[in-house]
Amino acid sequence: MVRERESARQIVLAGCTPIGLGLATRLDGNGCTLRIIARTFTRALLLPAALADDALVGDPLEPTMMEAAGLDTADALLAVTNHDDGNAALALAGARLFAIPLVAALVEDPIRADAYGNLGLAVVCTEVLTTAEFVRRARACFRPAKPPMKSLAILIVGCGRLGSHLANQMSADGHAVVVVDRDDTALSRLSAEVFSGYRVVGDAAEPAVLRRARIEGADLVIATTDDDNTNLMVTLVARRVFAVPHVMARVYDPQREPMYRELGIDCVCPTLVAVDGFCALLERATGRRGGGA
Ligand code: AMP
Repeated sequence: MVRERESARQIVLAGCTPIGLGLATRLDGNGCTLRIIARTFTRALLLPAALADDALVGDPLEPTMMEAAGLDTADALLAVTNHDDGNAALALAGARLFAIPLVAALVEDPIRADAYGNLGLAVVCTEVLTTAEFVRRARACFRPAKPPMKSLAILIVGCGRLGSHLANQMSADGHAVVVVDRDDTALSRLSAEVFSGYRVVGDAAEPAVLRRARIEGADLVIATTDDDNTNLMVTLVARRVFAVPHVMARVYDPQREPMYRELGIDCVCPTLVAVDGFCALLERATGRRGGGA
């Protein structure tokens, strides 16, 4: 296929999810032309006004939409809707049918991310990147004068996709890990091969549950539930009531970050981590900071 390129880099962004909105804001005015596909008008209206006016509304997998978005001349396609398989399908179509030089898909489920990565697709997995960020920060907190780092007592609250991934990794790294979740089926995400820690079923909002989960001897508490308020409350209780030396939290709303920092809570926002992940892919492809033209 002969591709006619415009002088500015053309990036097609499929999905007005929080990650899509973060990317749109980061990439707009960075030397590239953005074409944004939103599933609904309501979602498109979340974009900055200048971008909302030009957004296309509909299903990005519809052939007419692919044509309208200009996939045949795009330099990059970032599929960031909230459907893992749809993102992977769109990215595969972009690479195979339209020969777009850079395609990348948001895949939230680490198992799927692995599978799609094995197919040669560039994948950004929020849970994997967020886990890596928590691990990096934990290492920075406890870095001893000389390696190896001592085995830490770590309490992880929430055993969903993020908490279980993190617990498996921390346990495989040799730490004594306790995991709490109020839903006992969530604990089955822990790996039978690598997780050698302790599991507690209960609501982490209850101090008795935290005591059962050995919070009193913990070196580090990481709150990874899907609720910002629960994570804030658990980390505050850990620090103020149980004097845990280091606390970290997943925070969905990036606007809360300064407040958490002021309260002494180290926080990681998965949305920002994923936006950084996509920008890093663009930077590697273009050799420019921010991934612009
Ligand atoms: P995910 O969003 O997939 O990382 O999952 C978040 C996990 O947090 C789920 O397994 C929830 O059951 C768990 N969770 C949410 N609130 C609480 C709570 N108050 N106490 C313990 N676990 C919780």
